[in-house]
Amino acid sequence: MKDYYNTLGVERGATPDELKKAYRQMALKYHPDRNSGDKGAEEKFKEINEAYSCLSDAKKRAHYDRFGSMDGMSGMGGGAGAADFGFGAFTDIFDDFLGDIFGGGGGQRRQRSMRGADQRYDLEITLMEAAFGTEKKISIPRMESCDKCSGSGSASGRPPQTCQQCNGNGQVRFQQGFFAVSRTCPKCGGAGVVVTDPCGECGGSGKVKKMRNLSVKVPPGIDTNTRLKMTSEGESGERGAPPGDLYIFINVIEHPFFKRHERDIYCEIPISYPTAVLGGELEVPTLKGVSKLKIPQATQSGQQFKIRGEGVQRLGGGARGDQIVRVYIDIPKKITPRQREILEEYASISGDDVQKTFREKLKEMFTG
Ligand SMILES: [Zn+2]
Ligand SMILES: [Zn+2]
Repeated sequence: MKDYYNTLGVERGATPDELKKAYRQMALKYHPDRNSGDKGAEEKFKEINEAYSCLSDAKKRAHYDRFGSMDGMSGMGGGAGAADFGFGAFTDIFDDFLGDIFGGGGGQRRQRSMRGADQRYDLEITLMEAAFGTEKKISIPRMESCDKCSGSGSASGRPPQTCQQCNGNGQVRFQQGFFAVSRTCPKCGGAGVVVTDPCGECGGSGKVKKMRNLSVKVPPGIDTNTRLKMTSEGESGERGAPPGDLYIFINVIEHPFFKRHERDIYCEIPISYPTAVLGGELEVPTLKGVSKLKIPQATQSGQQFKIRGEGVQRLGGGARGDQIVRVYIDIPKKITPRQREILEEYASISGDDVQKTFREKLKEMFTG
């Protein structure tokens, strides 16, 4: 059983004022804005709000005092979840206090500052850039303060007027079951004020979309589906709140010759039949230039060779992977009469060795 009095640290006989004071202190201490990412504080904040939402309501408090729980309060689904609030509901309650605490005079409530939104930018880079790192100049649109009206939103510079619909509260209240629920005012969008002569440039919002140039350092070893976080480079926050972050999503463009798999680079190189039989030396393109590769005698089509250290390093450092070269025998589509003559002679002296050997192998397989 939850003890709401204990949660708020008050006596059972606490007056509404004492409750409110205790709640304010606790809520300020455990508010998510001040304990970012702290699960314990978030849980505690929920409990505080649950306790206060019950005890601050005379009817609910009487019920709780009598039955020791909120069970049976109709329309709330009953059970332990009777006073289970969504996040939105209790931040509304909390906003009322901020208004109180910071003393928004003349009915003009103080808005809770809002961190700017995170932004996403998709960046395409080449395989070489991914392998060795690069620095990219990017240009991203962002909402920034309007120059024409200096961010006021007003064409004449006349200060914004108090919103009629919410009387400057930024929120409108309506009854929902037992609760008076607050919602952001639809007319002023929560600002509590409206611009009566909107600026032509920004339409009264005080903000315009601007392109911003940034330089992005792409570390070596990066691959598709990696994202880079640029702290505080997102949208600017409301009323001086911190900006959001910018996330750069990397997409490495496919290379026509090299294929990458983790740290290794794969490629395919054609060789002639004589090279396959007799062996030889190949020039193989690598990420950085050209490398020589020895082909041994009797190399088969599809055989793979490794060139050490010509791959990609791991993101964050370390040795480079390898380059895997797969060779295949290239059959010429056209041959000269002279080449034909030699090939025919070759065939006549060697017979169809391939078929003969193959037949013998098959025989072994089926009789063995
Ligand atoms: Zn309004
Ligand atoms: Zn403007």
